Amino acid sequence: MKAMILNHIVDLTKNKNPLEIVELSQPIPSEKEILIKISTCGVCHTELDEIEGRTPPPFYPMVLGHQVVGKVIEKGKLTSEHKIGDRVGVAWIFSACGECEFCRSGDENLCPDFKATGRDAFGGYAEYMTVPENFAFPIPDIFSDSEAAPLLCAGAIGYRSLRLTNLDDGQNLGLTGFGASAHLVLKMTKHRFPNSKIFVFARSKQEQHFAKELGADWAGDSEDEPPEKLNCIIDTTPVWKPIVAAMKNLKPGGRLVINAIRKEAIDKDHLLKLDYPAHLWLEKEIKSVANVVRRDVIEFLKLAAEIPIKPEIQEYVLDDVNKALIELKERKIRGAKVLKI
Ligand SMILES: [Zn+2]
Ligand SMILES: [Zn+2]
Repeated sequence: MKAMILNHIVDLTKNKNPLEIVELSQPIPSEKEILIKISTCGVCHTELDEIEGRTPPPFYPMVLGHQVVGKVIEKGKLTSEHKIGDRVGVAWIFSACGECEFCRSGDENLCPDFKATGRDAFGGYAEYMTVPENFAFPIPDIFSDSEAAPLLCAGAIGYRSLRLTNLDDGQNLGLTGFGASAHLVLKMTKHRFPNSKIFVFARSKQEQHFAKELGADWAGDSEDEPPEKLNCIIDTTPVWKPIVAAMKNLKPGGRLVINAIRKEAIDKDHLLKLDYPAHLWLEKEIKSVANVVRRDVIEFLKLAAEIPIKPEIQEYVLDDVNKALIELKERKIRGAKVLKI
């Protein structure tokens, strides 16, 4: 099968073609796995974290990609959840042990044996993949394959981050960074919390304009002061400067939820500007979002079909994945990038 592989950590400022196209043998499902013929796979900022070594694969080569949509074409002997021909999706969570205290309490995202699709196991930048059958999710009919792909990461983790804000209807929500996940969170928030105001902080005028088009009450730069203080803010930027700015914009008792698997070191010195009385005093808190659990994916897909949420997408062919990744790195973003396999 055709696959795009990562062979080693790459410095994207020097090498614009981090992934290489190769022929790999088609994977064979084990007893509890299914084989999926992939039709689309989303391109996510986390792939940049893997390529640049902030969350590197434990072995190489690795097939990246964790927003996978395709059809079940073969099943292991002990599978029963999906039928041949079913359309399924695979998200960032590839597997977890199922036995530890976190797995038993439904927090399988925190499992010490958590495996991520496209980092710890081969993912969706290929024609086929295998996955444990209970980590594949039916895709609601309302979505095309390309629309469904970004929902599986950006949507599901956006759903989790919104849940972790503890937002109540009528409270102010901030979104700092306005990529694929944030624009889905904006749509979810408008549906679930119709009386809440949404404030978007984005670097480019284009993103600010896009946020307003989608119904944000206010949009500005991450350094701009919003007209009101906010109860919670979700950060989806890869850097530190917006974190310090966000803490200043929180109300007393407010919460910042950082939805980023890793932060880049490039502007880390900005943290020295953190001023305790202005940024942390009065019980302000910071919480990170780690991975997703299956429940997040299942609940989010249901909610997305109900609203409905149809993500803005930009399509690429598999051979152009390097172009899509570089554009993502350079923040040339309007909606979610999706590979058609
Ligand atoms: Zn992702
Ligand atoms: Zn576990």
